[in-house]
Amino acid sequence: MSASRFRYDTSGQWLKGNVHLHTTRSDGGRTPEQAAVMYAAAGHDFLVCTDHGIASNVGGEQAGRPLIWLDGIELDGTDDRGAFYHVIALGRFRDLSPDMELTDAMAAVRDQNGLLFLAHPHWCGNTMDDALRHRFDGVEAYNHVCRWLNGKSDSFAHWDRMLEERPNTLGLAVDDAHLKPQHPGWNGGWIVVNVQQRTSAAIYDAIRHGNFYSSCGPEFHDIELRRGHVAVRTSPVSFIRLVGPRTHGARIGSFQGETYTEAEFAIPDEWATVRVEIEDRYCRRAWTNPLFIQPTPLLPQDR
Ligand SMILES: [Zn+2]
Ligand SMILES: [Zn+2]
Repeated sequence: MSASRFRYDTSGQWLKGNVHLHTTRSDGGRTPEQAAVMYAAAGHDFLVCTDHGIASNVGGEQAGRPLIWLDGIELDGTDDRGAFYHVIALGRFRDLSPDMELTDAMAAVRDQNGLLFLAHPHWCGNTMDDALRHRFDGVEAYNHVCRWLNGKSDSFAHWDRMLEERPNTLGLAVDDAHLKPQHPGWNGGWIVVNVQQRTSAAIYDAIRHGNFYSSCGPEFHDIELRRGHVAVRTSPVSFIRLVGPRTHGARIGSFQGETYTEAEFAIPDEWATVRVEIEDRYCRRAWTNPLFIQPTPLLPQDR
């Protein structure tokens, strides 16, 4: 991994946010204003508005708001092979309409420098090949509303398959909150970006570069590279793991109730991708993105 670059700079402030949220503009139960009050009270610093088929226009950090909004949209539809997708797009977009073909809408997002995240592939029934098409920037490794709906919340297997072919793929935890009685869950999956400034531009930049971790509970305090070792400090957890490709890994941990707040691991040169994952006593996990940014995809599959 000699040509790669360590991803993390955790010298700034940590900001918590949910990047998948529905409001009354589509099928959510709360207005953006109501959602912002709820999330700010739960310690969130930012939210991304991703209503179905409606590009939001709420971004910014205007005075008087309880948190910072970023713009987005959730797209859905089938591609030219008949595979059904939900896709989260981050950015402010023009000329997207609900009746567009999915592939046309994704192309428009790309043209406007937006980010595309494969949403809840386990819940959608996406195959591994589905996940490898369309050059997704990332995938929802955890989706909280899918846990509520039928338990199909975890898509780590899709993420790991994507990492084998596109080693910079980001892996997110999201609420996909709808904030209504039929879908009550929220504050169950989030990302925490590290930024030098508390602005929407800095948050968007941190997401684009993957300078964030994802969590369903535990916290990272520092993520550093020291002489070829990755060192982390965390909230008290039962396990700290170095996650490599396929069967590869290293760990400290306890099934007997001991807790840990720091660890340091050597990173084997031959691993093409590696991340750190922590797990607390309630089996809630948090995980980094791939620790190293590869200069180019290792393999040329843009299929
Ligand atoms: Zn969806
Ligand atoms: Zn959604």
